[in-house]
Amino acid sequence: MNVAFEVKDRDVAGRLGRLEVNGRRLKTPALLPVVNPNKPTLKPREISKLGFDGVITNAYIIRKHEHLREQALEEGVHELLGFDGFVMTDSGSFQLAEYGDVEVSNEEIVRFQAKIGSDVGTILDVPTPPDAPRSRVERDLETTLKRAREAVELDEHPPLALTVQGSTYEDLRRLCAEKLAELPAAVYPVGGVVPLLEEYRFVDVVRVVLAAKSSLPPHRPVHLFGCGHPLAIPLAVAMGCDLFDSASYAIYARSDRYMSVLGTLKLEELETFPCSCPVCTRHDPDDVREMGPRERTRVLATHNLYELRRVIETTRQAIVSGELWELAESVCRVHPRAWAGMAELARRGGELERWCPAVKRSVFVCDEVSKGRPELRLYRRRLRDRFGELSGRKVVKGISRPYAEIVEWLEPWELAFADEWLGVVPGELSWSYPCHCLVEPSGDDEGEDRRRGEEGRRR
Ligand SMILES: [Zn+2]
Repeated sequence: MNVAFEVKDRDVAGRLGRLEVNGRRLKTPALLPVVNPNKPTLKPREISKLGFDGVITNAYIIRKHEHLREQALEEGVHELLGFDGFVMTDSGSFQLAEYGDVEVSNEEIVRFQAKIGSDVGTILDVPTPPDAPRSRVERDLETTLKRAREAVELDEHPPLALTVQGSTYEDLRRLCAEKLAELPAAVYPVGGVVPLLEEYRFVDVVRVVLAAKSSLPPHRPVHLFGCGHPLAIPLAVAMGCDLFDSASYAIYARSDRYMSVLGTLKLEELETFPCSCPVCTRHDPDDVREMGPRERTRVLATHNLYELRRVIETTRQAIVSGELWELAESVCRVHPRAWAGMAELARRGGELERWCPAVKRSVFVCDEVSKGRPELRLYRRRLRDRFGELSGRKVVKGISRPYAEIVEWLEPWELAFADEWLGVVPGELSWSYPCHCLVEPSGDDEGEDRRRGEEGRRR
């Protein structure tokens, strides 16, 4: 197995990276559009032209249909799809969750994925629905772990995706991740979250992802299986998810739904297209409403993919700019349940501290949710653990940033500032990170000035 995952930049727990498997490269965070090998809404070649380096398809469906199976075994899955980029395959676990049974064993589907040349293949894990009785979850989990062990020991297997299951039980998710981390994998997906996403249970998504992530090895990418929702992507990247897949671009298109920054909109309600992708520039909603169903689905699916690409690329840039938390906050504000997920992440910000960059250019704070930012928690903890006694200092209250002017006419080590966001700031730290670059709703912020100054220089 020739797999390398290189992390080039990071913010919160999000990573900007590059996954290389058998010579095929994928920039992460990445979204893999789902391609139905039987009747693709858009051909993988067309998807590639929209700026996607990889796709995911279903090995179970390929194996089930003779004409697909024969061609895939003879020529490989890349040739079958007419696509030379990164191809991940799923195993039939989704069908197992939907229909309760599949006509293939774990060993058969893992070997099959190797034979057709999948870049990453998935074990036949057992997705347990949310809120299932604990005894059932434990039983399913045992099966998933047994199948993972079986797959890695086969003489023939593709680079593997070993899926973390455990329903909505955080301790079982952690346990499953711990056991899988002992086995070699190319990718560790977090599975069984589609029902949570469909019901907008963002709080539970945050809980299960954080539980899995806490025990997974940091040198491998994490895939949030079935997550292709623009609202969820920045939040999930902030928790450390690197890969996503989406069938939603096509499913939504088939029912005349249009992805946008305002959430998912119905074609019949659209007055205008709030997007400047090539599709939306060329057409207006009336044009598209008049199209036949096939053409309309293609046009909407193409726009939906452009929208997903915009979200992924914006998220990638936010990592580089150190503004991933700000992006996740602004995107989650669109829906109250997504916002509840963001609030849950803030409440558990302590779990993200260890991934957080040591220094940033600026830190924006807006409200109670921002107070949970890992950067602020990290400061408070370091102050507690590493800074000496603060008692005996004069505590200055009600002063707005920057504190430096006051420090100038008093000895800094005699002062401490009571700070709404950071708790307490010793005088001598008032010039240092994050105190000097915190941007709050009121006040004369050095951080904001610095940012404006830098923008000025760029122009
Ligand atoms: Zn568009």
